[in-house]
Amino acid sequence: PDALMSGKRGLIMGVANDRSIAWGIAKTLHEHGAELAFTFQGEALEKRVRPLADSVGSEIVLPCDVTDDASIDAVFEAIGERWGRLDYLVHAIAYADKDELKGKFLRTTRANFVRSLDISCYSFTAVAQRAVPLMADGGSLLTLTYYGAERVMPHYNVMGVAKAALEASVRYLAADLGEQGIRVNAISAGPIKTLAASGIGDFRYILKWNEYNSPLRRNVSLDQVGGSALYLLSDLSAGVTGEVHHVDSGYHTVGMMAVDAAAQ
Ligand code: NAD
Repeated sequence: PDALMSGKRGLIMGVANDRSIAWGIAKTLHEHGAELAFTFQGEALEKRVRPLADSVGSEIVLPCDVTDDASIDAVFEAIGERWGRLDYLVHAIAYADKDELKGKFLRTTRANFVRSLDISCYSFTAVAQRAVPLMADGGSLLTLTYYGAERVMPHYNVMGVAKAALEASVRYLAADLGEQGIRVNAISAGPIKTLAASGIGDFRYILKWNEYNSPLRRNVSLDQVGGSALYLLSDLSAGVTGEVHHVDSGYHTVGMMAVDAAAQ
């Protein structure tokens, strides 16, 4: 391991299991010497998250439901007590009602819209508010987004709207926090088979589509997202903020791929 993250302490929010993007990021950070704290959502996930946290030597594993301000407060109070500071934060949290992650966006209900935007977008600002006082020496905040924020993707629906608002939040937070040396960025990850993704209609088809139509002709791995997160959370990216960085095998750059020579 190198010293890229040594001495850096950070909070990872959004591990559900070992397929979570947050876990891919945590593993990579650990390999580069970072210290990690974790949150989990509810008891059912605690059983999965604790052993993972143990495996990377983490001693701070806390419950957090981002719809509850008191729950978020408790996390940052505990981190303040244990560490007294924070260098980085990973927000890998999203939710929308499964029934509305298929079919037409037009059907979106008010209740699901409000809840999806609260959990998938506002929560990033809510945690940023509490992280900032712990980042007196500067810091790096990272969230996860998806191309459905920029262009229509089938079934992504209200999540696309939530991610568009999240990406705008990244820019506003970056402007607010730049003077304090706190950087705010997002990774726009290509599709990865996770618990959250399994809720999206036709997800297997979306995976195939990205595999066939991205310049690299493959889907991204947790390690690849981890590598880019390492860059954005370490001092390697000291000049980068307000950025939405695509880790999607280049899919977002393509209008149309050439028909494969083999298929002609
Ligand atoms: P995941 O299911 O492993 O992680 C989603 C996490 O959100 C879970 O840990 C869940 O507990 C948490 N969460 C949901 N509601 C919460 C709440 N009220 N309070 C606290 N936590 C809550 O799936 P993932 O794909 O790793 O998702 C992580 C992030 O990556 C999400 O923002 C997702 O939109 C984004 N993303 C995923 C993909 C993909 O294809 N998997 C692509 C681009 C972006």
